[in-house]
Amino acid sequence: MSRAEIVVDLDAVRHNVRTMRALTGVTMITVVKADAYGHGMLPVARAAREAGAEWLAVATLDEVRALRAGGDAGRLLTWLTVPDEHYDDAIRADVDLTAYTVAELDAIAAAATDVGAPARVQLKVDTGLHRGGAARADWEPFLARARAGEDSGHWSVTGLWSHFACADQPDHPANDAQQAAFDDALALAASLGLDPGLRHLANSAAAILRPQSRYDAVRVGLATYGLDPAPGVPHGTHLRPAMTVRAELALVKQLEAGDAVSYGHTWTAPERTTVGLVPAGYAEGVPVAGSNRLEVTVDGKRRPVRGRVCMDQVLVDLGGDTPPAGTEVVLFGPPGDGRATAQDWAEACGTINYEIVTRIGGRMSRRHVGHVDHVGATP
Ligand SMILES: *Cc1c(COP(=O)(O)O)cnc(C)c1O
Repeated sequence: MSRAEIVVDLDAVRHNVRTMRALTGVTMITVVKADAYGHGMLPVARAAREAGAEWLAVATLDEVRALRAGGDAGRLLTWLTVPDEHYDDAIRADVDLTAYTVAELDAIAAAATDVGAPARVQLKVDTGLHRGGAARADWEPFLARARAGEDSGHWSVTGLWSHFACADQPDHPANDAQQAAFDDALALAASLGLDPGLRHLANSAAAILRPQSRYDAVRVGLATYGLDPAPGVPHGTHLRPAMTVRAELALVKQLEAGDAVSYGHTWTAPERTTVGLVPAGYAEGVPVAGSNRLEVTVDGKRRPVRGRVCMDQVLVDLGGDTPPAGTEVVLFGPPGDGRATAQDWAEACGTINYEIVTRIGGRMSRRHVGHVDHVGATP
């Protein structure tokens, strides 16, 4: 037992990757950026590969280096670079880079010349998110430059892709508009003699809710971790949340009616009760916005957080019960046994489940369970 820890079930990760592969029937690109959404990049990467993920994807080249240093040798996509990025290293790391601009393609061409080996490049077109990717007015020169770079031997183009703005709202008109724009980009590429390689558009929500957006591959982040990418939309994928966050009660104490708790005295006990001290706070990613709103489970019972979430600790109302210090507290985890979920926490704090799991951590330890626990055992 440790003070406060994150337990990640790699069997759940494998189950989710297999479930999403079976559901979509296309190439799986498992997204493990941001330390696998707080779940631990290297163990999750290995689990995803074991479950059949043909590709992994990360945002940055630092993440690429960490994956390669950790021993991952498979196909790997990345998409967020800055102008002074070291593309030489990236080409040597055998990654599939994503370019958004002609200038980026020029820099990749120079690096490929330096390295003396061709790069692999995917082309991102902006179809309406208006974030990364080539703006529509630039598609033609961008795609033409990509085609020319193939002729000059600087790279092979391995993919053409885009990203939805509103995939979690399946009826949002932006989805149809973006997909039509993506088809336009594919047609333009074809007219320029460019083989797009892997065509991909869908994230988790689109992969589940919009089958026509699956093309050749899907980029699945959130669903890998068993979280629902479109809360409230029934889709029966039976994903299993992989993360449980737990701690042990540090202290239990009695409060009298009128006793106020934590900084700012934002909550006052209306009657005699007991409170438990949970040794995790906003330094561990427990949102301050969850003050007086979050619930946790102590010994199988839902208990409300009282008062402000502090840096290192938070108080929960035990309603007069006096479980001993050391009793297990589950902050959130898979649904069942009265547990709060990451989704419950997100709703209580006015945020999204992605943010809850990605930010949890700080001084907590993280432990991976499942298959890795039985290495050497008969499968
Ligand atoms: C993070 C990210 C994804 C994964 O999205 P989920 O909603 O977590 O499945 C896919 N594509 C891009 C470009 C991303 O930035």
